[in-house]
Amino acid sequence: MRVAITIAGLDPSGGAGILADLRAFEAFGCFGTAAITSLTSQNTHKVYGAYHQPADVVRAQIEPVIEEFELRAVKIGMLPTREVIEVVADIIERHGLPNVVLDPVIRSTSGFDLIDRSAARYLAERLMPLADIVTPNMAEAEILTGLKVTNLEEMQRAAVQLRDAARSSVLVKGGHLLESATDVLATREGIQLFEGKRIEGSNTHGTGCKLSSAIAANLASGEQLARAIERAKEYVSSTLYRLKAES
Ligand code: PLP
Repeated sequence: MRVAITIAGLDPSGGAGILADLRAFEAFGCFGTAAITSLTSQNTHKVYGAYHQPADVVRAQIEPVIEEFELRAVKIGMLPTREVIEVVADIIERHGLPNVVLDPVIRSTSGFDLIDRSAARYLAERLMPLADIVTPNMAEAEILTGLKVTNLEEMQRAAVQLRDAARSSVLVKGGHLLESATDVLATREGIQLFEGKRIEGSNTHGTGCKLSSAIAANLASGEQLARAIERAKEYVSSTLYRLKAES
């Protein structure tokens, strides 16, 4: 049995956070486990609030899972405070957890700050170097680099800067690009583009959560990074088409 864990926030409306992550794990044959870092209050349009969990509560959720299962991948989403970031970094280091996919969740599309700014800096310093791949969207790439990230060229510059700072692979997601949804991957080998088509009129809430979890599930099955990203993008597109057809 391939087991993965998501360490992320709960979106009770199911579009983002751990509920979306678990569905993505399952779609790729991974048994999903989860630790909740924050209980948010939201629906698919708006975040109303967030009740962050204390760091020791986050640790208490993860340790027994690690004790029982041999985890094949770790998806990290919303880590709201410095203390929670430190606990997660410490657990990854001490247990040598494999296939760490870090989605640096900072702010919701609707504009709600999901972590505080000093925590965003700490996430970059402490956790990015422990990740195999970091998956910021364009807004998150701007906050993490201090660069302007509005087009493909700027995405490439930000991806390279983050890769060099963290020495991990970086996928800057172009879902907010007007003309396409192309993503930029920077690894030690260089830059690779993943072309995507914008799916107009779809509700994109939670697409970042699904993508990073689908990448983690594919890495857990032994796929190479580029193939894991391709398969994850296909999965996210198929969920967007399905949601659009059903709405
Ligand atoms: N809520 C939680 C728990 C999340 O993890 C995220 C994003 O990763 C969001 C909300 C925001 O989702 P979106 O910006 O896609 O609406």
